[in-house]
Amino acid sequence: MFDALRERLEGVFAKLKSRGKLSESDVDSALREVRRGLLEADVDYKVVKTLVEAIKTRAVGKDVLESITPGQQVTAIVYEELSELMGTEPAPLVISPRPPSVYLMVGLQGGGKTTTTVKIAKKLSSGHKPLVVACDLRRPAAVEQLRILAEQSKIGFFGPAAGESDVLSVVRGAVRFASERLHDVILLDTAGRLHADEELMEELAAMKRQLPPTEVLLVVDAMTGQEAVKVASAFHEKLSLTGVVLSKLDGDARGGAALAIRQVTGVPVKLAGVGEGTDALEVFDSRRMAQRIMGMGDVMGLAEKIREMADSGGAEKIAESLKQKKFTLEDLLLQFEQIEKMGPLDKVMEMIPGFSRMKGMGSDDLDPKRMKQSKAVIQSMTREERRNPAVIKGSRRRRIAQGSGTSVQMVNQLLAQYEQMRKLWKQFGKQGDKGFRLPKGL
Ligand code: GDP
Repeated sequence: MFDALRERLEGVFAKLKSRGKLSESDVDSALREVRRGLLEADVDYKVVKTLVEAIKTRAVGKDVLESITPGQQVTAIVYEELSELMGTEPAPLVISPRPPSVYLMVGLQGGGKTTTTVKIAKKLSSGHKPLVVACDLRRPAAVEQLRILAEQSKIGFFGPAAGESDVLSVVRGAVRFASERLHDVILLDTAGRLHADEELMEELAAMKRQLPPTEVLLVVDAMTGQEAVKVASAFHEKLSLTGVVLSKLDGDARGGAALAIRQVTGVPVKLAGVGEGTDALEVFDSRRMAQRIMGMGDVMGLAEKIREMADSGGAEKIAESLKQKKFTLEDLLLQFEQIEKMGPLDKVMEMIPGFSRMKGMGSDDLDPKRMKQSKAVIQSMTREERRNPAVIKGSRRRRIAQGSGTSVQMVNQLLAQYEQMRKLWKQFGKQGDKGFRLPKGL
């Protein structure tokens, strides 16, 4: 996600970081890149214009021009403005003080509405007793899909009776059913259509009038870019949405939707769908998203994961070696072990700052089997070799390959990968020395 924008911005920031002082024309040319990057990421041009103007007003001030590390300051400004654009505070789902809370789930067909309904119900089921209700009377398959997903997740389900043609009567039935069985959150999975037509909007508006709902949540597919923003505007105009869920953020979305929906409609993006499974739902966090967009790595997310790890001793050792700015093969081994513990590898790697710049580290390296081989290679080295890999010449490489049951090529690749990581670590160490200012909130 956001790869193109991230790469472009990383290029801009790398250029700025090498300057001592910034002239106005430096800022202008950097902002031209930022502008182009955002437009390519499918962000609405009006939104881009506002954003770039806001950045410029702050960046061309005296502070930045006379500052010692202007590149870092511009980085921080862009980060703050990007987060601001997506909404600075997370917007939690509202639970009504008087049960039941009713969530009207709306959206176009295929956007992820049914899946998201079950995902939300599942998330809430730790402290609540949710009920999902199938309200699409035209598509029996949609009713069946919700019933099956609810059953798999052990969530209460209510559906229309055979031949039922009045959706308002289904809603009344569901509310009665919920009160009898003490369900305190009712999620209505409404009809999906290919287009936001008048008839659909009228049906949803009638449901809304009858209830009224605690939340009107629109589920939109992040992969549809600008289209998602248009859909959000159309639904908001008719139904006054209280929140948006961006689905499929795990896919190859260009990201314009996340950046622009809040700005264009004023409706907060509350949640993000990050996979097909019913657990793949996250609270939408604009700061984290801005960091990822800018290629600064999900430092917060990584810190959280590290905290979650059972073996906190390992994390401390990594932190210690970072401080001393030495990075040995022993640290790399430790890293492999930590990464294995942290869970889905690609997600973890995405969070490591600068990872997207490490061209040598392809998806192959994230393959668990390959990681095992890499570990075996390091484990077949002597202590001296691990601490001082420069001593590993041809014959020793062959011996290590034999000892680890791999090939000389594999040993060479591992050493090259290590060298890259060592350089990167050194770079971060230097930034630390200069007091690299992490953006607010970190
Ligand atoms: P609806 O027609 O709006 O109810 O959409 P569905 O819930 O049936 O979802 C349509 C397709 O998108 C299904 O194949 C889902 O598994 C998939 N889907 C939904 N949410 C996500 C998500 O966050 N990530 C991914 N990768 N797929 C999703």
